[in-house]
Amino acid sequence: MGRRYLVTGGAGFVGSHTVAALLDRGDAVVVLDDLSTGHRAAVPDGARLVVGALEDAAGVDALLSEGPWDAVLHFAALSLVGESMQAPYRYLATNLDNGVRLIAACVRHDVRRFVLSSTAALFGAGSDAPIDEEAAIDPGSPYGESKAMLERALLWAERVHGLRSASLRYFNAAGADPAGRLGEDHAPETHLIPLVIDAALGRRPELAVFGDDYPTPDGTCVRDYVHVSDLADAHLRALARLDQGSVRYNLGNGRGHSVLQVIEAVGRLCGRPVPHRIAPRRAGDPPMLVAASGRIMRETGWQPRFADLDGIVGTALAWREAHPHGYRTPPA
Ligand code: UDP
Repeated sequence: MGRRYLVTGGAGFVGSHTVAALLDRGDAVVVLDDLSTGHRAAVPDGARLVVGALEDAAGVDALLSEGPWDAVLHFAALSLVGESMQAPYRYLATNLDNGVRLIAACVRHDVRRFVLSSTAALFGAGSDAPIDEEAAIDPGSPYGESKAMLERALLWAERVHGLRSASLRYFNAAGADPAGRLGEDHAPETHLIPLVIDAALGRRPELAVFGDDYPTPDGTCVRDYVHVSDLADAHLRALARLDQGSVRYNLGNGRGHSVLQVIEAVGRLCGRPVPHRIAPRRAGDPPMLVAASGRIMRETGWQPRFADLDGIVGTALAWREAHPHGYRTPPA
């Protein structure tokens, strides 16, 4: 029998690209998504979409009882650093309640492998040096805290019940499916690369740069942008590695780019300058987050195909140009 996966949040950005990667290699996928931020049209053909909320414990239980599952991949969560500073308890309660309930349900249904979408926001204090898996967990936001707590919950699920897990700490997911099937569409959009592209394309008046007085080379925040299809590939490799035990991997390209460098790259690729202005800092943003991803490279052979910013921005630009309204149908 072929492999079969349950993917929560498979209608979202990283989730949908991972579903596509699983389908591309011939696996069967069921997506559980409440479509609160994900899109029906982002669920790749070939996956079965169950529209449902993680809060619906009976519904999740019923779905899990359709096993056996080779693994559960858990993407569905609130995921914005800035928003979590405005609504800390909503972030902590939602991500933790849903995550812990799902982990417990997996144990009850004898699921043996679990993959958690985790985040660089675990390392909220930031660091000038690339951050490896030995770095101290010190979240700078309730969002990061909620994922740190779920990683801890998974440690207990393994210790008590033997559930193996991969915690994958994405640095800044960006780009779009190189085949043009999928892209990034948040409403409202808060992520830097799509916003800079929209400013360059004249779809928004300007980009607000959140702070230029950080202790970084040009004063704007530095992030490690990693292509969403490279992240999808990392999930497949981490799943295979679970046969040898649980893992936690930091996932990035190992190179940082400042907000101003992103603006420069997008302007160059679009052939026009990006209108922007300096705005106040956004609460919760660490100055610098760059990954040291040597561990997943050594242990699984993962190698990002999109190692430079231009390749990442290029695929995002192509999808945004082709889909001015994202996954939504344009207004009549
Ligand atoms: N950023 C910005 N203006 C925006 C959106 C983001 O200056 O309109 C900055 C933000 O402060 C951060 C970086 O761009 O330093 C990446 O932010 P994003 O929200 O894309 O990802 P995060 O790092 O929060 O996961």
